[in-house]
Amino acid sequence: MTSFSMWPFVKTPVPQEPAETAAASLSPAVADVIHALPDPALAVDGQGVVVAANAQAAEILEADPEGRHLSATIRVPAVLEAVVAAARGDEGTSVDYEIRVPMPRSFRAHVSGLGPGKGALLVLRDLTREQQIERMRADFVANASHELRTPLAALSGFLDTIMGAARNDEKAQTKFLGLMRSQADRMRRLIDDLLSLSRIEMNEHLRPSGEVDLAQVAAHVRDVLSGMAREFDCEVILDSPGSLMVTGSRDELVQVVQNLLENALKYGSSGKRVDVTVRRQGDFAELSVRDHGPGIAEEHLPRLTERFYRVNVQESRSRGGTGLGLAIVKHIVNRHRGKLTITSELGNGSEFSIRLPIKS
Ligand code: ADP
Repeated sequence: MTSFSMWPFVKTPVPQEPAETAAASLSPAVADVIHALPDPALAVDGQGVVVAANAQAAEILEADPEGRHLSATIRVPAVLEAVVAAARGDEGTSVDYEIRVPMPRSFRAHVSGLGPGKGALLVLRDLTREQQIERMRADFVANASHELRTPLAALSGFLDTIMGAARNDEKAQTKFLGLMRSQADRMRRLIDDLLSLSRIEMNEHLRPSGEVDLAQVAAHVRDVLSGMAREFDCEVILDSPGSLMVTGSRDELVQVVQNLLENALKYGSSGKRVDVTVRRQGDFAELSVRDHGPGIAEEHLPRLTERFYRVNVQESRSRGGTGLGLAIVKHIVNRHRGKLTITSELGNGSEFSIRLPIKS
């Protein structure tokens, strides 16, 4: 029989007792509590054999641990040590640990004793998502600060030049003031996008309830961006019914279509045409923006809606991009309970489509 004393890290053997006796002595109430807990939980007897485990524990440990020694399913010495100590009668404790396979995940194990020699209770909390969010938050602050610092450093540099070397050079001053204007514009765009994103995220749980004509939104955006299309020497072809009503916020949907069409022009204008299509598909309205430009390599597609993710940072910056446009699109579409799909092939253009529930 496996006993705590056989675990390599155990210093003091616990009183020995056959597993069956200990299992039998587990109070039915403890087993009931384990099964009622929302978190993965299990109890081991004085010998370290799992005598009760709920379905969540079986899922996380990828096997039903009941009847097996705990060390067969959790191979983390710190957790096993804590369980031994708690089973011996020591005070309960918490241990954070990570697993690498089948994929990286982090857990916190709360361990408490069930009385000296009677076993211990182990409750696991999955910290993976929490840690991911924390990392994303930290990355976001670092990225946003970096994005703002770059134009600010350029502005300071130009100011130094105007106040120093170019103090009496009117021509140079005009040139540097123009450059300062574009850096200030870049900072403004970034701040506008950051504020937009935070506003949308704050309201993401509230579904907008207005009535919006998606066909009219598409025509409006095409008109607003007609100057930009001319500048890029690109034709925008709209194929749309007279009207298609969806439930939503007009301003936000304008922002979505504008971001998508601007991107198609900024990155796909070499294809000389962009097709904007609006149509009804069952209970959904679908709007797609298709360009015939260079396309996007497959490995980038899943990451395009991450904040500040760009396929080519220099290209994005030189076209006035902030790296936040598609993140804004994704959040607005989520708030509308819709779906964003991106398909692209290198050399064959890209298509960004959104699906929104039809106004019933
Ligand atoms: P940006 O402000 O950089 O345009 P977005 O979030 O709107 O930020 O887009 C992220 C990145 O996705 C862009 O920098 C670009 O690399 C890529 N991208 C977006 N739309 C297209 C497109 N139609 N064709 C090719 N690449 C695109």
